Amino acid sequence: MTSEVPEYDAAIIGAGFSGCYLMYHLRKMGLKVHGFDAGTEFGGTWHWNRYPGARVDSHTPFYELAIPESQKDWKWTQTYPGQEELQNYFRHLDKTLNLSKDYDFKVFLTDAIYDEKARRWDLYFKDGKHVRCRIFLPCLGLSAAPLTPEFKNLDQFKGDVYHTSNWPEHLDLKDKSIAIIGTGASGVQCIQELGPIAKQLYVFQRSPNLCLPMPQEELNDDSPQNTKEGYADYYANRAFSFSGFDIPTQERKGTEDGPEEKQKFFQEVWDKKGFSFWVGNYADLFFDKETNDAAYKFWRSQVIKRIKDPKKAAILAPEKAPYPFGCRRPCMETDYYEQFNRPNVDIIDVNTEPILEFTEDGIVTKTGERKIDTLILATGFDTLTGPFTRINIKGLNNQTLTKKWGEEGASTFLAVTTNGFPNLFFLGGPQSPIAFSNNPSTIEVQANAIFKLIKNMNDQHIEAVNPKREDEQVWSGQVRDWGTNSLFHLAKGWYMGTNVPGKKPELISWLGGLPSYKQMLERSLFWIIV
Ligand code: NAP
Repeated sequence: MTSEVPEYDAAIIGAGFSGCYLMYHLRKMGLKVHGFDAGTEFGGTWHWNRYPGARVDSHTPFYELAIPESQKDWKWTQTYPGQEELQNYFRHLDKTLNLSKDYDFKVFLTDAIYDEKARRWDLYFKDGKHVRCRIFLPCLGLSAAPLTPEFKNLDQFKGDVYHTSNWPEHLDLKDKSIAIIGTGASGVQCIQELGPIAKQLYVFQRSPNLCLPMPQEELNDDSPQNTKEGYADYYANRAFSFSGFDIPTQERKGTEDGPEEKQKFFQEVWDKKGFSFWVGNYADLFFDKETNDAAYKFWRSQVIKRIKDPKKAAILAPEKAPYPFGCRRPCMETDYYEQFNRPNVDIIDVNTEPILEFTEDGIVTKTGERKIDTLILATGFDTLTGPFTRINIKGLNNQTLTKKWGEEGASTFLAVTTNGFPNLFFLGGPQSPIAFSNNPSTIEVQANAIFKLIKNMNDQHIEAVNPKREDEQVWSGQVRDWGTNSLFHLAKGWYMGTNVPGKKPELISWLGGLPSYKQMLERSLFWIIV
């Protein structure tokens, strides 16, 4: 090894919430840390996902890091901030915490190879950069690996094609004829913005999104988010709630209530808006088909009255639940359903009218060709595992993570480590509660446990740690069991990995809630020091 290769105690890949939090704390612990990101600045998901209407569905003050000096001078303008405001928040984090002095941008990690003898990771980047580190922290986010399905003759389409995850700056789509494929959170948010301005908007839907109402509020200087009133409590308590927010969970089960009580209860949680109708619903919502069907029926009754055309209503909110309610991520909307009352917005169900091919200037189904200027792919991501498996991460015995997770599915110990890859720790990845809980709440719980582990390693002069295979198998089995023992396995989508051809169908997030996860992490992470 030549002396020119920079060596760090810890290298962070990613400049989203996880990267910022790790950088701030590891530096304070006295480690020599460096961060790397493929983008041009901090923001992670909010740096890349700049599509029209991009907005977080987690509310302030929960959607920020618990670093007091970064909170002092920061003001939010809305409870659910948009992408630009979030990007500015990250700029503020950078400025107040002086993060970028230890970050390189526009660098994409291609290979991470563990040198067993030296007990160091060698990291190689696309631009030729090579660094070494003892602790390798890939914090890649859920959605760094976009998915573009194959469509016949898409390459012959001469119009513009954009994936929501890599949106150009300053794109004006006013008066354009647009087709959008996909109605996940990204699709729904785009549709709300484009319906009012497009000449024609064709929405190609495969599965309806069972959206929930967003309780958006404008904030002013006196709002608690800006006076910071109650912040100490919010932050002390958020890791003790299932979802990392302030939404109470219910012990009450739907099976215990009759139809009238159920209706009353559903109305109560519905009126709270936001995710209450999801994570604050009956305790057996994800487990009992009857309770779940009743919740869907209630949801449909609220939505259907907003859609004037019965044909469109039958596609957006069919009589029979398309999948168990809440077993795919519900997204929040403000006027999504009203968009379909516009004469220029149409919806096509690709289950009955599949996309046959593209032409130079159109999209063809069995009912003919629709002429379009622009195609938007809101077709999602190889979520959670994809950001890791597209990098050549090679651990002990030349085993790659791509092969390991490709063959056996996501396999981790406590969602922060994986056997055979010493000193590799990740945040917000597979088998963590991240899909069901607020991002900053979750990654802080994970990072804080990792800080303790690193301190313990340093105190005991332990160079490297590797979780035991049998512990990993127990943990991974528990995560998967939540999927098979609940209604989740009945819903296709990224929660079960079934949106990616060839990916193992399994629940890849911990459904047991943030508090139970926190407890296990704090109790058990030290076991890996042997
Ligand atoms: P997504 O939820 O995976 O949605 C992808 C959409 O594309 C689905 O409707 C999918 O249909 C459709 N699709 C994929 N391939 C298709 C094909 N060949 N033909 C027709 N339709 C196809 O992806 P996303 O909307 O980008 O959201 C991903 C996650 O990111 C969200 O669940 C959320 O966690 C996060 N996110 C959050 C926010 C926010 O905070 N507000 C915003 C955006 C994203 P199927 O459903 O049938 O598979």
